[in-house]
Amino acid sequence: MAQDWDIKPRAEACRACDRPFEDGQVCFSALQFMEDGYARADYCAACWPDRAADAAPYSSWQGVFRLPPAAPEEALKKETAETLLRRLVEEDDERRRNVIFILAVMLERKRELAERDVRTRDDGATIRVYEHRRTGETFLIPDPHLKLDELAEVQQQVVGMLGPRREEAQPRPEPAAPAPAPSPDSGVPSGREVGLRDGFYSSASL
Ligand SMILES: [Zn+2]
Repeated sequence: MAQDWDIKPRAEACRACDRPFEDGQVCFSALQFMEDGYARADYCAACWPDRAADAAPYSSWQGVFRLPPAAPEEALKKETAETLLRRLVEEDDERRRNVIFILAVMLERKRELAERDVRTRDDGATIRVYEHRRTGETFLIPDPHLKLDELAEVQQQVVGMLGPRREEAQPRPEPAAPAPAPSPDSGVPSGREVGLRDGFYSSASL
């Protein structure tokens, strides 16, 4: 059974010539889909034309290599749509498929993810290929083809999971602060907005 979703980092060097990418360098990424998952390869502009001529089926796109940020710890302190998405993808829980999809849509709307391709797997599943704009990682997200009347429930789950953190088992030394009000621009798409995205569902329901 093919992996339903996964996160693949961008390589730090060209697959063909092994030269390390430099910050700001244009690079080309290709996904090759196989029986048991997919493989990612990244190439420099000089090597790409030869590779692009290969007949193997893949998704490919042009991007810009960015050196990893120096201090990632800050981002780990609180749950955001991105940390939640990463955690759920890692946990690989089939029951979270709808939540994972909504989180990916939220992050696309916030321009943190870019959709690079949409593929139909052999078993008919629609897979959306997202790239993290900053890190270059690839996220393969199955599209569960949510109906409009299912969206509200999934959005409630997402809001609940992004809300104030549940009490931890350990007693906290500091007094409990009042829970912050949910941010109005948390990026949670309303059913109306998602439904109105031009072709969002029609293009996915082939
Ligand atoms: Zn190269």
